[in-house]
Amino acid sequence: MGDRSVAIVTGASRGIGFVIARALAGAGYDLAICGTRTETIEQAGNRLADEFGIEVLARAVNVADREQVQAFIQQAAKHFGRLDVLVNNAGITRDTLAMRMKESDWDEVIATNLSSVFHASQAALKPMMRARKGRIINISSVVASMGNPGQLNYCASKGGIDALTRSLAREIGSRGITVNAVAPGFIATDMTAELGEEAQRKLAEQIPLGRLGQAEDVAAAVVFLAGDQAGYITGQVLHVNGGMYM
Ligand code: NAP
Repeated sequence: MGDRSVAIVTGASRGIGFVIARALAGAGYDLAICGTRTETIEQAGNRLADEFGIEVLARAVNVADREQVQAFIQQAAKHFGRLDVLVNNAGITRDTLAMRMKESDWDEVIATNLSSVFHASQAALKPMMRARKGRIINISSVVASMGNPGQLNYCASKGGIDALTRSLAREIGSRGITVNAVAPGFIATDMTAELGEEAQRKLAEQIPLGRLGQAEDVAAAVVFLAGDQAGYITGQVLHVNGGMYM
């Protein structure tokens, strides 16, 4: 077993996932990261390895595929000989009104955002239980609590994450493993850039802190929950939203 703690971050080729991986690298973790494309995830991995002098395992993995995501977790745990933290971050949107939503819009979002969290966590439990220690951190969303028109599938997937988080936390607390969620508000990434400038300005007006969040705001919450100081926190959804929902 290596000296350094090891964290897995899914969906880390860009956006919030990349910044979470970067913050964990800065906190001294070796990393296993995945995204859908080999080229972009390897680039992200090389950047982090060069900048922080850590070891990074970077793989193209479709987290919606149970076998792929479980094989990736197992490979990472075997490669590093330990697994301290799993961050389930990969997520997609397929926004449209309920009346028009195709079955595939529903299925893809549930498989990518929610079923992946079950499958990845299930695979991570083995090495974590053996070590009697571990942290699972799931990236939810403020809309799980608020609802959002045009995002029925996405909101259901994130609400499912919050419920899964509480349930798994109760199930495995006695094994020294904590399970929490971080629920970002509107964060400036590719996902929110799709909304356009005008919609983003209107959103910022409804946020008490007067701005969209930055990926770094979310990453700081994840690093906190991963660290020793959060050892007595489990089953929680930590909102990072500038006050837009309280
Ligand atoms: P993003 O910029 O669209 O990036 C999504 C990441 O997930 C990319 O690395 C992408 O990889 C990866 N990914 C997507 N589908 C995948 C799959 N099937 N298998 C493996 N990786 C996959 O999104 P983001 O804004 O950073 O969001 C990250 C997380 O935060 C998501 O769970 C999202 O729901 C949540 N969130 C975001 C906001 C926000 O305002 N941005 C707010 C609340 C919650 P590729 O590069 O290969 O596509």
